[in-house]
Amino acid sequence: MSPQKVILVTGGSGLVGKAVQWVIENDTSEQFGKHADEEWVFLTSKDGDLRDAAATRAIFDKYKPTHVLHLAAMVGGLFKNMKYKLDFLRDNMLINDNVLHASFETNVQKVVSCLSTCVFPDNTSYPIDETMVHNGPPHESNFGYAHGKRMLDVYNHAYHEQYGRQYTSAIPTNVFGPYDNYSLEDAHVLPALTHKCYLAKKNNTPFVVSGTGKPLRQFIYSRDLARLFIWCLREYQEIDPIILSVGEEDEVSIKDVADAIVKALDFTGEYTFDTSKADGQYKKTASNAKLRKYLPDFKFTPFDVAVKESVEWFLDNYESLRK
Ligand code: NAP
Ligand code: GDP
Repeated sequence: MSPQKVILVTGGSGLVGKAVQWVIENDTSEQFGKHADEEWVFLTSKDGDLRDAAATRAIFDKYKPTHVLHLAAMVGGLFKNMKYKLDFLRDNMLINDNVLHASFETNVQKVVSCLSTCVFPDNTSYPIDETMVHNGPPHESNFGYAHGKRMLDVYNHAYHEQYGRQYTSAIPTNVFGPYDNYSLEDAHVLPALTHKCYLAKKNNTPFVVSGTGKPLRQFIYSRDLARLFIWCLREYQEIDPIILSVGEEDEVSIKDVADAIVKALDFTGEYTFDTSKADGQYKKTASNAKLRKYLPDFKFTPFDVAVKESVEWFLDNYESLRK
């Protein structure tokens, strides 16, 4: 059968995009593996800068996608978000406007874009659910990124109400896995601490965790998230977003994260917390009740298994990975 669907994945070289490619190429199930009528195209920034409208349109004219999984974004951990608030706002607004408008102009049938649980209000009740995206200001540490991302949901509703377009979004919690960004300064907590613990072991220096270790987070393994995005692209029909997360009972502290990394790397040296560094938002506990209604039997990879696989990938790819 020749492909009838062309699925364009923006951000195809990133943590989440690489995981989607891995699942499409390796999962043999009908539910998540590649279908015969699908052609998947994974973009990187080398294919064109999505902040540029003409470059974005040229990509759409070249591949003529019927479906778009929009993952590309300026992304980073707490400390990068605190430093570059305007860049996070502006770059993500430009990328999102260009991708959705090129999708509109070239009659793409469906777009699934990516938000984050960082976008939710800081002052909120728990657990957070999909109805709360616009209910108040986000945490001050990442207001640029959060407002840029929130506008994706606003765009999706506007394209739907004015033109009937099926553009929707999904909201992952903290993601980790192979092909992560391991920058010591700018990465998210799990890859940053993996790299720091590796160096502490190698150089026989202390392993220093930023902040108090008390904040709470829900982590999703990138390959689990990839399966859920593939399901969204094929099956999810709502315009309103859906949270893609492990359950509230699987929330862990930053200290738990550091402990899991220490164990996976077999680190036996000194281990401390630098409480002069920011903690960021204390928690953003999200409900996965909506996801569970659609996919009651979906199995998440246990956190320690996923950390071990990710750390093994990090060790095997240390020379070439992003750091
Ligand atoms: P990532 O590893 O940093 O990857 C970002 C991707 O976007 C890369 O493929 C990058 O291309 C591409 N990109 C960035 N700027 C671009 C531009 N101007 N033009 C074209 N492509 C550009 O990020 P990720 O963690 O996979 O994030 C994917 C999505 O998940 C994002 O929308 C992010 O907001 C969301 N998310 C991530 C997390 C998390 O914990 N990581 C949590 C919640 C939500 P190059 O590789 O060529 O630079
Ligand atoms: P967030 O979930 O959006 O806040 O982003 P992160 O993935 O950056 O996680 C931030 C939390 O991890 C904060 O509580 C930080 O204090 C803590 N943390 C501890 N060490 C590090 C580190 O080396 N890098 C980062 N990004 N966060 C760290």
